[in-house]
Amino acid sequence: MSEEAFRFAALRVPYERVNSALFPGIEVWVRRDDTLDPLISGNKAYKLLYNLLEAKAQGLDTVITCGGAWSNHIHATAAAGVRFGFKTVGIVRGWRPKELSAALQDAERLGMQLVFVKKSLYHRRWEEGFLKEVVGENYKSALFIPEGGSSWAGVKGAELLGGVIKESAPVNFDQVWVACGTGATFAGLVGGLHDIPVIGVEVLSAGDSIANSVDRWLAMSGESISGALYRTSVEEYLKGDLIGVEGAGLLSGGHCGGYAKCPKELSSFLYKVERDTGIPVEHVYIGKLLYALSLGARNGRILKGSKVLVVHSGGLQGRRGLM
Ligand SMILES: *Cc1c(COP(=O)(O)O)cnc(C)c1O
Repeated sequence: MSEEAFRFAALRVPYERVNSALFPGIEVWVRRDDTLDPLISGNKAYKLLYNLLEAKAQGLDTVITCGGAWSNHIHATAAAGVRFGFKTVGIVRGWRPKELSAALQDAERLGMQLVFVKKSLYHRRWEEGFLKEVVGENYKSALFIPEGGSSWAGVKGAELLGGVIKESAPVNFDQVWVACGTGATFAGLVGGLHDIPVIGVEVLSAGDSIANSVDRWLAMSGESISGALYRTSVEEYLKGDLIGVEGAGLLSGGHCGGYAKCPKELSSFLYKVERDTGIPVEHVYIGKLLYALSLGARNGRILKGSKVLVVHSGGLQGRRGLM
């Protein structure tokens, strides 16, 4: 594992031009980071890179992280542990169910030790003493990666993705669109892409917390763009002026009824996307990202002829949650 080898793989991720009436008036491309690796999916691979290099540099043999039953990050961390020789521990919210989600079954098969904690304890996962309480003294030989892989090292990994896009883009993109859970990938892309506006679609209802994290990360990376972030809801965006000329923006309320919810409207949209493009998508992140983009295009909110890059951040293992 090295930064160079990772970068080499990232530079070879394909871009696909999309031809679909779902995105009228704009030129849509998808960067297929879902194909970066068969197991360590999409943006989670970027977010893990510097975390794992850090663990190695510190001589730590274990990585501990946390998440929900369908966490792409837990899944990716378990796979990365096998690949790069770390023991992994996944702290999961809630009691152990009789039947594990497919994601957690994979994680266990990949050798991850799952520790289930009740919700009230899980809520204290940012507090000092949490790890010691959950895993005992073992935490001393481990690197703790926060939920979603969204540490500062995670943001730096996404920044590398931004640099890779600049270097490998087949055309000059006017905008880059990405789905936001914690906003770490978005913040890193803003830092790495500099002058190319990044639009982030929030796929969960999190109040200002995503925007606040993004502000903090941008301030840490010295990005002056922080104060200039365009910030509105998908709904307001559809009524408002053209965006993309002003710079980077965060659109809240792109969750289609709630995190990981998949109403009929969304599932029939996803069917059409896959039929038109042949690109596999999932309902938690990419589906909602494309849905917001489609609404923007159909409502004439994106400058005609704009070249828009969609980052396919992976997460396809989560489709099994619908079965
Ligand atoms: C985790 C995840 C995201 C969100 O990334 P953040 O850095 O937390 O905003 C987006 N897409 C997919 C497929 C994911 O698994």
